[in-house]
Amino acid sequence: MTDFTYSVDADGVATITWDTQGKSMNVMNQQGFLDLEAHIDAALADNKVKGVIITSGKEGSFAGGMDLNIIAKMKESAGDDPARGLFEGVMGMHAILRKIERAGMDPKTLKGGKPIVAALPGTALGIGFEIPLSCHRIIAADNPKAKIGLPEIMVGIFPGAGGTTRLVRKMGAMAAAPFLLEGKLSDPKKAKAAGLIDEVVAPDELLSRAREWVLAAKDTDIVKPWDAKGYKMPGGAPYHPAGFMTFVGASAMVHGKTQGVYPAAKALLGAVYEGALVPFDAAIRIEARWFTHVLMNPSSSAMIRSLFINKEALEKGANRPDVADQKVAKVGVLGAGMMGAGIAYVSANAGIEVVLIDAKQEAADKGKAYSEGILDKGMKRGKVTAEKKAEVLGRINATTDYAALQGCDLIVEAVFEDMKVKAEVTAKTEAVIPSDAIFATNTSTLPISDLAKASKRPEQFIGIHFFSPVDKMMLVEIIKGKETGDVAVAKALDFVRQIRKTPIVVNDARFFYANRCIIPYINEGIRMVSEGVEPALIENAAKLLGFPLGPLQLVDETSIDLGVKIAKATKAAMGDAYPDSAVDEVLFAMADKGRLGRKSSAGFYAYDEKGGRTGLWDGLSAEYPVADAQPDLHEVQHRLMMAQVLEAVRALQEGVLEDIREGDVGAILGWGFAPWSGGPFSWLDIIGAERAVAICDGLEAGHGPRFAAPKLLRDLAAQGDTFYGRFTQTAKAA
Ligand code: NAD
Repeated sequence: MTDFTYSVDADGVATITWDTQGKSMNVMNQQGFLDLEAHIDAALADNKVKGVIITSGKEGSFAGGMDLNIIAKMKESAGDDPARGLFEGVMGMHAILRKIERAGMDPKTLKGGKPIVAALPGTALGIGFEIPLSCHRIIAADNPKAKIGLPEIMVGIFPGAGGTTRLVRKMGAMAAAPFLLEGKLSDPKKAKAAGLIDEVVAPDELLSRAREWVLAAKDTDIVKPWDAKGYKMPGGAPYHPAGFMTFVGASAMVHGKTQGVYPAAKALLGAVYEGALVPFDAAIRIEARWFTHVLMNPSSSAMIRSLFINKEALEKGANRPDVADQKVAKVGVLGAGMMGAGIAYVSANAGIEVVLIDAKQEAADKGKAYSEGILDKGMKRGKVTAEKKAEVLGRINATTDYAALQGCDLIVEAVFEDMKVKAEVTAKTEAVIPSDAIFATNTSTLPISDLAKASKRPEQFIGIHFFSPVDKMMLVEIIKGKETGDVAVAKALDFVRQIRKTPIVVNDARFFYANRCIIPYINEGIRMVSEGVEPALIENAAKLLGFPLGPLQLVDETSIDLGVKIAKATKAAMGDAYPDSAVDEVLFAMADKGRLGRKSSAGFYAYDEKGGRTGLWDGLSAEYPVADAQPDLHEVQHRLMMAQVLEAVRALQEGVLEDIREGDVGAILGWGFAPWSGGPFSWLDIIGAERAVAICDGLEAGHGPRFAAPKLLRDLAAQGDTFYGRFTQTAKAA
C-alpha cells in the first residue's frame, strides 16, 4: 500500500489522491515523494491524460506537513558529509515540484504542458502547501476550520521545498513576510483574500470544479508568472527603490524580533534576498543552500527535536504507564478563581462535563462567566459560533453544592494555596465522588505527598499543575506524590491530551520543575540590581539570549508580592540554608513601597495610566546605585542562563525529572526558555559539558556556590559525553 493512489477518468483527467496510511492527516515521508513523482511521470507520459488533480483522501485536510523525523534521519544517514546529503535531498524535492510546475511544457515556447490543479479539502501546511504552490491552480474547499500556510519557522527552519521562493515571487517580499517570517496561517477565505490560493468552493464541489478547470485550462493558464517573459517581482526586487525599502526594513525587523539568535529567520531573508536577484531555478538552488545551512545549525536540530519530535512524543504519551484508557467524562473543579475558571473553560471546550465549585454561588458564577468572556471574544473574531458557545457553557455547572460532584471521574482542586483549606475540600469531595475517581491538586508550592495525607486514597492523588493563563499556556506539569499510582498518572495524561496541551511528568519536590528553574532566574536578576548592575544591562542581556522577558519584567508580570510570599515560605522551610537574603532585601523593599509589578502599575518598570510599560523605573537607581564598573555582557548572560540551567540539571540528578525531553520541552513551553536552544539540556549539549563546567567554575569563584557545577555535568565533561548522548537510550519511545 502506498500513500498515493492514481486513477484516470473517461475524459482524461488523472487524480492523484494522497492518503497516508494509519494517520488522521497526511504527512510527507521519503517514500511519499517517490510515489508522487511516479504518478506525475505516469500522467505526463500518458497521451490520454489531459491534466491532473492532486487531492487528499482525508476529510477536511490536504496535508499537515513533512515528517520532520526524516530531516534528522537524512542528516544522520548522510555519512561524513551531511551537508551534501541534505542539499542533494532537498534538490531532489525541488526537482519533483519543478516537474509538476513545468508539467511537460516546452521550456522555450512554454506550450504543451498539462494543467495540474491542487484541490484542497482543508488544512494544508508546510510541504502540504508547498506542493500546491508548485501546481498551476489552488482550489480549496470552504472549510472555516482549515488552516493554510507555512509554519516551518515555528520549529526553527523555513519553508525549504520551494515555498519561500514561490511565495515571494507570487506575492512579493512584503506581502509574503507574515506567512514566511511569522508562520501566519489562514483559513481558506482569508488565504484567497491574501492571494495564497486561487479559489474557494463549496466542499462538495471541490473535485468537480477542479476537473472543470483542468479541462478548460489553456497553455497560458499554466505558465507561472516567473517562468513567463518580462516577469517582475510584485513590490519590487531588492534593487528596485520600493524593494530596497522592504529588504532594509525586513532585516532590521527580523533582527529586532529574533535578536539574531534564530538562524532560520536570517537564513530565510538570505534566501529571499539573494533569490530575488537571479532566475527561478538559480533561486531554488540558493534556497536549498540556505535551507541546508539551517538544517546543519545545531539550534535548528535542537528546535526540531524539542518542539516537533519530542513535544509530539510527550503529547502521545511517551511516559504514560501501560494502563487502560483513562479518558475523562466529568471533571469537578474546586475553586472558581483565576486558575479554576481557566481549567473549567479548557475542559468544557474539550467536550468534558464540568462541575465548577466555589464557596459562594457568586464566585462560582464569576468563574463560569470567565468562559463566557473567552467565547464572546472568539465570536467577535468569527472563531466561535453561537451554538458552540451555548454548548461549551452548557457543560459547566457552576455551584456550591458538593453533591453535584457525584459521578466525576477526575477532580482538579484549585482553591486557596492553604494546606488546611485544601485538606478540608479533599475530605468533603472524597465523601461524594466515586471510589475510583482521581483527585488532582493544582498547587504551585505545597508538596503533593503532604496534601495527599488528607486523602483516603493517596494512590489516586496527584498534582496537575497548570500555568497562568490556563487557556493560553500549553504546558501542564503532572506531579507524582510518593504514593501516586499508575492509574492516576495515566488519568492526568489522558486529561491533558483531551484538552490538547503538552504534559511533563515529574516527581514531587519543592516547586516541581518549571518554577524551580524560573525562580532562580528572577532571583539572579534581582540580585544583580542589589549589586549595582545596570538594570537595562540585565534585561537586555536576557533578551539577547532569546528570552521573551527579562527577569525584572517577568517578576513584574507574575507580581512582586507573590515573590515575597514564595521567598518567606522558602526561607521558613530551608532555615539557615536559605541562599537568597540579598534578593529579598530588594524584593521586600519594592513590596513595602507598594510597587507590586504590573498589577499595581508600578514595579521594576514604570507604567502609564493605561497600564502600558513605559520603561525601567527611574527610581531604581536611587535605591540601588548603579556601580561604576559594570560586568561584561557575557558574564551577565552566563549568570542568567546558568541560574536556570543548573537547576534543571539538579532536577535531573535528583530524579525530579525523569526524562530530559520533558526538561527541554517543559522549559520552552513553561517559561519561554530560549526556544532557539531547544531547552536547557539541548543548550548544554550545544556548548558542550566541558565548556559549561568552565563557565560554572568561573561563576562559582566570582559569585558563590550556587553556580557550582553539579556532579552529573562534571561527569559528562570528564567523559566527553552529552545529555542526549547519555539519556536518549533510556527514554522510552512514543
Ligand atoms: P484564586 O484566589 O484566584 O482562586 C481560589 C478560589 O478558591 C477562590 O475563588 C475562592 O473563593 C475559592 N475557594 C477558597 N476556599 C474554598 C473552599 N473551601 N471551597 C470552594 N472554593 C474555595 O487563586 P488561583 O490563583 O486561582 O490559585 C488557585 C490554586 O492554583 C492555588 O493552589 C495556586 O497555588 C495554584 N496555582 C496558581 C497559579 C497562578 O498563576 N495564580 C498558577 C498555578 C497554580
